[in-house]
Amino acid sequence: MADWQIIGQKNVAAFLAKSLEKGVLCHAYLLTAPEHSGKTALALKLAQALNCTGDNSPCGGCESCRRITAGIHADVRLISVQAADEDGKNRVELSIEQVREINHAVSLPPFEGKFRVIIIDEAERLSTGAANALLKTLEEPPPGVVFILTTVRENQLPETIRSRCMKLRLAAAPRREIVRFLEHGLGFPAERADLLARLSQGRAGWAITAARDEGLQLERRDNLLKLTDALGSGFDFRFELADKLSQRFGKTRTEIYRLLDQWLSFCRDILLVKLDIKEEVINTDYEIITAELASRITAAEAQRLIGSLNATRRHLEQNASPRLALEVLMLNLPVIKGSTNRIG
Ligand SMILES: [Zn+2]
Repeated sequence: MADWQIIGQKNVAAFLAKSLEKGVLCHAYLLTAPEHSGKTALALKLAQALNCTGDNSPCGGCESCRRITAGIHADVRLISVQAADEDGKNRVELSIEQVREINHAVSLPPFEGKFRVIIIDEAERLSTGAANALLKTLEEPPPGVVFILTTVRENQLPETIRSRCMKLRLAAAPRREIVRFLEHGLGFPAERADLLARLSQGRAGWAITAARDEGLQLERRDNLLKLTDALGSGFDFRFELADKLSQRFGKTRTEIYRLLDQWLSFCRDILLVKLDIKEEVINTDYEIITAELASRITAAEAQRLIGSLNATRRHLEQNASPRLALEVLMLNLPVIKGSTNRIG
């Protein structure tokens, strides 16, 4: 059986399957979607489909498919910043050396499969030099080479790279599909499956990771606790928090982006409760405190709060001083004194 199953990505998968069937492949694809939406999973499926030796490609079961799943197929390479980190250097960019290695690899014929597939994860992290070094290969790769670039922030990719790829945008997976998979595929209770699917906001990969990772749930509780504490506190507490968060941003910015996303979804919930649109509430496990806070601020204040969080995220992405950006956010949070509820 062909196994293209990527939760919620039927259209893109169907398009790729059809292209393969008709033999009208592009030599470079750019998969764009939010984090943990299945981009890398889909890229690996395409790599399998290209090299499958089973009857119904990608079969998932033949030697080639299994070697790709295991990450040991000689012709399928996954290039990412994480892989670059393994040598102990904490890089934030994909380097020119990595691209030179790719250029060399694609000049050789496939060792064991039919196609050489190069997957470049988070392609927006290509350094300028690396992007330039990739251009020529991307434009005219040798026969039998397929590039698959993935990105969360397409606008940060040079136009020269984007224009050489066929762009495929992955849609947010419908909530019911994620619930179904968590409940029937992984055996989670219905209520937990529903909460995780809401929190994932259409990112199936995130839902699956979070379902298995207790640490992510604890981190979320801790992050929301910081927000409710800040809302109920004066400026001493808030500036101390801004200081701590900006220091953490210096080490692991993704954690702070995640915290801001969680704050944003929580504040959207407050607004949704105020507007009586409860079906769309994401953090259903904190509905009591959401209702309590919603009763203490106006819809306009909730809207301003959401605006401030969006602006903070934007400023951080544009390399503003993290301390300044976070201090401005703290100044803009409404003061909700006397709130008895906090995340427990
Ligand atoms: Zn196969």
